[in-house]
Amino acid sequence: MVQLKSKSEVEQMRKAGAIVGQILHELKDLAKPGASTADLALYASTRTKELGAKPAFKGYNGFPATLCVSVNEEVVHGIPSKKRVLKDGDIVSCDFGVILNGWYGDSAKTYPVGKVAADTMKLVETTEKSLLLGIEECKPGHHLFDIGAAIQNYVEQFGYSVVREFVGHGIGRSLHEDPQVPNFGIKGKGIILKPGMVLAIEPMINAGKPEVKVLADGWTAVTVDKAWSAHFEHTVAITETGNPLDV
Ligand code: MG
Ligand code: MG
Repeated sequence: MVQLKSKSEVEQMRKAGAIVGQILHELKDLAKPGASTADLALYASTRTKELGAKPAFKGYNGFPATLCVSVNEEVVHGIPSKKRVLKDGDIVSCDFGVILNGWYGDSAKTYPVGKVAADTMKLVETTEKSLLLGIEECKPGHHLFDIGAAIQNYVEQFGYSVVREFVGHGIGRSLHEDPQVPNFGIKGKGIILKPGMVLAIEPMINAGKPEVKVLADGWTAVTVDKAWSAHFEHTVAITETGNPLDV
């Protein structure tokens, strides 16, 4: 069941979202050659405490860290490690969430590390653009799958593919609420979007084929063909005005 949020609840969620956005923004400066993925996670943990929030991911279904850090062919849910040191030309996807006063915030960005190949930058920029196109569909009266259709139609024209196994989601007092928000689908299908729905849209786009598998650590999802993957996530509330509100 989709839980609608009141305007005052959305305002509270935006405070959680602002902390997520702030810390993710700061992580950009740490995503440099020579930094380990554990360095990024430690920074996120420290800043979460400083800003008065709690980490949303640590312990969630047993996930061991505050930040998911996924490098290159890793798609999502990478476990931070001191042994995984970023190199010039890598891309690093940081997926991060907090809880503030019982409300969840969730967002993700993929950062280039040092100087990145032009075709890799194209993947990153196309994924970010697809997120914006998905968000543009977050209007009352639109159908849920309009979001995924916009994302899929955009990225596939570049020969990229959409991950099927992981999807966006409603968010609120829980990290993952109904509805699931696929990054693929047919325009005009799915439930009708209504004011008060708060959705985390999060395209995971592969440079190669869509198939992913989970490594033996039980978490890290990688592309089967080892092509690189990018991930951007943003949370929005659907509003009466028609303009999605950043959460
Ligand atoms: Mg996330
Ligand atoms: Mg999410």
